[in-house]
Amino acid sequence: LDPTNQKYSHEENDVERKLRPLSFDDFAGQDQVLENLKVFVQAANQRDEALDHTLFHGPPGLGKTTLANILANELGVGIKITSGPVLDKPGDLAGLLTNLEERDVLFIDEIHRLSPVVEEYLYSAMEDFKIDIMIESGPNARTVQINLNPFTLVGATTRSGLLTAPMRARFGIQSRLQYYTTELLSQIIERSAYILGMPITLEAAIEIAGRSRGTPRIANALLRRVRDFAQIKGNGKIDVEISKFALRALNVDAHGLDEMDNKILTTIIDKFKGGPVGISTLATAVSDNAETIEEVYEPFLIQEGFLVRTPRGREVTEKAYKHLNKTNPNLQTG
Ligand code: ATP
Repeated sequence: LDPTNQKYSHEENDVERKLRPLSFDDFAGQDQVLENLKVFVQAANQRDEALDHTLFHGPPGLGKTTLANILANELGVGIKITSGPVLDKPGDLAGLLTNLEERDVLFIDEIHRLSPVVEEYLYSAMEDFKIDIMIESGPNARTVQINLNPFTLVGATTRSGLLTAPMRARFGIQSRLQYYTTELLSQIIERSAYILGMPITLEAAIEIAGRSRGTPRIANALLRRVRDFAQIKGNGKIDVEISKFALRALNVDAHGLDEMDNKILTTIIDKFKGGPVGISTLATAVSDNAETIEEVYEPFLIQEGFLVRTPRGREVTEKAYKHLNKTNPNLQTG
């Protein structure tokens, strides 16, 4: 198992659920986003109205699903969860929509992957809380319009650039989630360790946090693996020694970069002399698409100072050369 892999096996899902914050108070970080959401939720609760449709965007594992659940809890309503690729036809969506109670939350993950027909069908549901459904078949087939209970659609996407403009315009609330600092991640790790009943030192929490790519999901995954090492190879407590030992054994990158991060940096160095290189040329060279690089990988590499954006394209920094143990040919002249 690759501990930084963002996809999980089923047994791990149970632990994931246990660690998931349930209220605004449990949720660490994203202060600006949270402050605003608290106001909107309180106002909607006071007026006894559904919260406006809300869109969360940002890289994977930063808490979009968690926030959707928290919104439902704080609104005191139910939540139905689905995702873009699962909704094949308008009928799938109609089933979900007609089962929503007043003010409920409908969470659609990967909302940029809805098919165009389903997306269009969603428009009138979002705008007027009405949908057309087809009844009977053959010569008697006809559509009838039915009223839905007012509800809140919470959409999540890692790729806001791929959302259509009409879809985006229908979200009254839009929030971008940011990467977490090491300090926040260490608080999240301490909380998770507490829930798992595992003693941990502050120094160990910081060590794990620094290698978690700014991402709570990765922090929790690494904590679980370090816990295994502490239990089997250590004395049951998580201290900095066993953490370092475990992270080394797991081959976790010293800065928490994942395989794709390193591939992007290596490619810019080896194929483009360190840059600058245009985003689409780079995308082709690493066999991914430009939006994913721009929205999922690049923000972290820039934040951590491995990459810079210049008017002529992306360039790696000296820090990237050092990290990959490569010499910067541009510095050897003279
Ligand atoms: P994806 O879009 O890839 O599903 P996501 O952004 O929806 O990712 P979540 O599933 O909400 O991410 O979060 C991943 C895990 O990280 C959660 O199980 C939760 O335990 C933890 N987590 C996320 N944000 C926070 C936070 N602010 N405080 C504490 N734990 C958090």
